[in-house]
Amino acid sequence: MTNNDKALCLIIGSGPAGYTAAIYAARAGLKPVLYTGQEPGGQLMITTDVENYPGFPDGVLGPEMMDLFRKQAERFGTDIRMEMITKVDFTGPVHKVWTESGTELEAHTIIISTGASAKWLGLESEKRLTNQGVSACAVCDGFFFRGMEVAVVGGGDTAAEEATYLSKLCPKVHLLVRRDEMRASKIMQERVNKTENIIVHWNTEAEEILGNDAVEGVRIKNNKTGEISTIDVKGFFVAIGHKPNTDLFKDWLDMDDTGYLITKPDSSRTKIEGVFASGDAQDKIYRQAVTAAGTGCMAALDAERYLTEKGII
Ligand code: NDP
Repeated sequence: MTNNDKALCLIIGSGPAGYTAAIYAARAGLKPVLYTGQEPGGQLMITTDVENYPGFPDGVLGPEMMDLFRKQAERFGTDIRMEMITKVDFTGPVHKVWTESGTELEAHTIIISTGASAKWLGLESEKRLTNQGVSACAVCDGFFFRGMEVAVVGGGDTAAEEATYLSKLCPKVHLLVRRDEMRASKIMQERVNKTENIIVHWNTEAEEILGNDAVEGVRIKNNKTGEISTIDVKGFFVAIGHKPNTDLFKDWLDMDDTGYLITKPDSSRTKIEGVFASGDAQDKIYRQAVTAAGTGCMAALDAERYLTEKGII
C-alpha cells in the first residue's frame, strides 16, 4: 500500500490483540497495515517469563513471545510500521488517520488495539526494581514469589483480586490501602477480609521499596499517625489501576467513565461502522495476553465480515 491508497484494514497497536488481528486479517487477504505505536509489543515487553500462555509448556520471555507474534504477522504479509497514530477522523465511510510525522492515511476498517498501561506510584525505587520484585501483574509474576511474603498496593477490585490470588501462593500478603476503606466491590472486600493471610494496613502508603538488585522490604507510613515502619517482603505488586490508551478516540467512540472502549455485545464493533476495538483498550475485566489475542481475532473476523457485507471485498 502506498500512503495514498485506501487500506482495507488498518490496525493500531502491537500487543497480542493487534498482532493476532493482523495474522487473521492477513490470512483473509485484507493486506493489513499495522502501526506499532511507541512501545512495539505492548505490555508484554516489560514482563519477564510468561508461563500462562498456552502452547509454551516451558514458558517464554514476554519480549520473545511478542517477537514470535510479529514474525507470524509478517509471514502472511502484514505491513508493520513503527510509528504512532496521533489523530483520527471517523466521519466515514472511509476512515482517516494521521501518523506522528503528519502522513494521512485512509482505511475502510480500523482495528483499535492500543492496550492499557498500568499506573505506577512514581517512586524512584519502584522504577529501579521493576521486574526485580516490583510488578504490576500478580497473575503474570506471582508464581515467582511462592513461599515468600509480598505486598500489594491499592484498594480497588484489582488490588483485592491480586491480594487474593497471591494469598494462595504466599504465606503472608500485606495489602497497603491509602484510606481507611477500600474502593473494591463488597464481595471482593469480603473475600479479602475472610482470607487469614492477607493483612490489611489501613491509611498506609509505601514510602520506599528497599533493596538494590532485588526487593528486600518496603518502608511504609501510616498517613494518620505518621508512624513509619518496615515490612519484609520480596515482592511488591502495584495494583492502583490501569489506564486504557484511548485518549485518541475520545471525540469519536463511546467509552465508560474510566476510558475503556465500549463494543456491541458479542462483537468487537464500536458505534462507528468499520471501527473495531480489541484487547485491553476495550477489556477491563480479564486483561490477559490470551484474552487480548482472542478479541484481536474477533476484530479481524468482524472487519472481514463488514468488508464483505459492504461489497468492498
Ligand atoms: P480502581 O481505580 O478501581 O482502584 C484503584 C485503587 O488504587 C483505589 O483504591 C485507589 O485509592 C488506589 N490508588 C490510586 N492511586 C494510588 C496511589 N498513588 N497510592 C496508593 N493507592 C492508590 O482500579 P482497579 O484497577 O482496581 O479497577 C479498575 C476497574 O476495573 C474498576 O471498575 C473495577 O471494578 C474493575 N475490575 C473488575 C474486576 C472484576 O470484576 N473481577 C477485577 C479488577 C478490576 P482510592 O480509593 O483512595 O482512590
